[in-house]
Amino acid sequence: MLTVRTVADLRAALDPPRRAGQTIGLVPTMGAFHAGHRSLMARARETDDVVVVSLFVNPTQFGRGEDLDAYPRDEARDAAIAHAEGVDLLFAPTVEEVYPPGAATTVSVGALTEGLCAVERPGHFAGVATVVTKLLVMAAPDRAYFGAKDAQQLAVIRRLARDLHLPVEIVGCPTVRDADGLALSSRNAYLNAAERERAGALSEALGGAADAVAAGERDGEVLRSRAKRLLRVRGVEPEYVELVDPDDLRPVAVLDGAPVLLAIAARVGRARLIDNTTLEPSQIPCNA
Ligand code: AMP
Repeated sequence: MLTVRTVADLRAALDPPRRAGQTIGLVPTMGAFHAGHRSLMARARETDDVVVVSLFVNPTQFGRGEDLDAYPRDEARDAAIAHAEGVDLLFAPTVEEVYPPGAATTVSVGALTEGLCAVERPGHFAGVATVVTKLLVMAAPDRAYFGAKDAQQLAVIRRLARDLHLPVEIVGCPTVRDADGLALSSRNAYLNAAERERAGALSEALGGAADAVAAGERDGEVLRSRAKRLLRVRGVEPEYVELVDPDDLRPVAVLDGAPVLLAIAARVGRARLIDNTTLEPSQIPCNA
């Protein structure tokens, strides 16, 4: 595996395989790799000829008072994991390489970046959209792989790729979870043992709502209330529990058969955790 730090070196490394007709898969990350990241690398490895992982803690997606400085960083460990997953190229640029002095352009994706996590994290998705657009232009991959765990991020990236006519396939990959259901996240490292135990409430609340749908419930407000109750009994106060359309992220009041995204955010200790599930009422008979 080769590590490169400049856009010029990245393009020089990708030019020969591209000319030879090989496909390129990109996995954008902020490092601190866990099995969720590894699953994206493995999926890319299965699909594409050349696998590029970008490792960049993007300052513009962190708000004031957020954990930019505390965010876990260990490039040597991450490089060893990427190597073990069969990654060909690790792109680990500096902040100056990604944002050269005077950089003034940002990518804004409209209403998709106003609700859900954007309420607590204003500006976050402009930072995400800008850096992902840059990475897609830098590496010009055939495919780019993202986790469904960050559902709003995935919707924003799908939309920007479509709106900007970027010739890339955005591949969404399933959320990887711990044995108790907690979605893996680099921020789980902030949890102490008691908080780690309470954090299991997020996936439990999602499961409770999915069970209610399976039992025939179609009222969005009832489903949201049930999920909130399941969080609160475990001592977790939700930041939001929302039912939205998975593509345009507009609120859904009643499940009418189309897949709906149930998304949760909550602070547990120092960690801000998110999770979601797709409720698919059409696959479940109402009288089951
Ligand atoms: P991050 O390093 O947190 O920016 O995440 C890099 C990529 O890994 C994003 O596309 C995330 O959605 C994805 N990811 C993070 N956690 C998980 C998980 N538990 N399962 C699957 N993908 C994940």
